[in-house]
Amino acid sequence: MSKFLNEFKEFALRGNVLDLAVGVIIGGAFQGVVNSLVQDIISPIIGLFANKDFSNLVMTAGGVELKYGSFITALINFIIMAFVIFLIVKSMNKLATLGKNPEVAVTEECTTKVCPYCCSEISINATRCPNCTSEL
Ligand SMILES: [Zn+2]
Repeated sequence: MSKFLNEFKEFALRGNVLDLAVGVIIGGAFQGVVNSLVQDIISPIIGLFANKDFSNLVMTAGGVELKYGSFITALINFIIMAFVIFLIVKSMNKLATLGKNPEVAVTEECTTKVCPYCCSEISINATRCPNCTSEL
């Protein structure tokens, strides 16, 4: 049992699982916003043109009720969610490539140098190596 718990802890403490959990929570909260946007703002506007409450549109065919109004509402929800997620993924990709900017990497490397006596990485301004105490 403790082995199982340890495995679960290892799994849960991995960064990507935490990222995933945050993503799911934000996604859930965000879905509420999109639902409200569609149901409370977009549907009434479309309803203005259709001259009736859009999300409650029902078609009766052979005694079966087809709630196509709420289906179209769900469809609009999906399109908006997909579009926003596309925008988020696009901007994330842009941020990821910004982090890999070669100019940034060069300026980062310029803050250290390699000690000629012990070959360890030390500050570029050091006059004495902190690892082997040699004067530079
Ligand atoms: Zn050294």
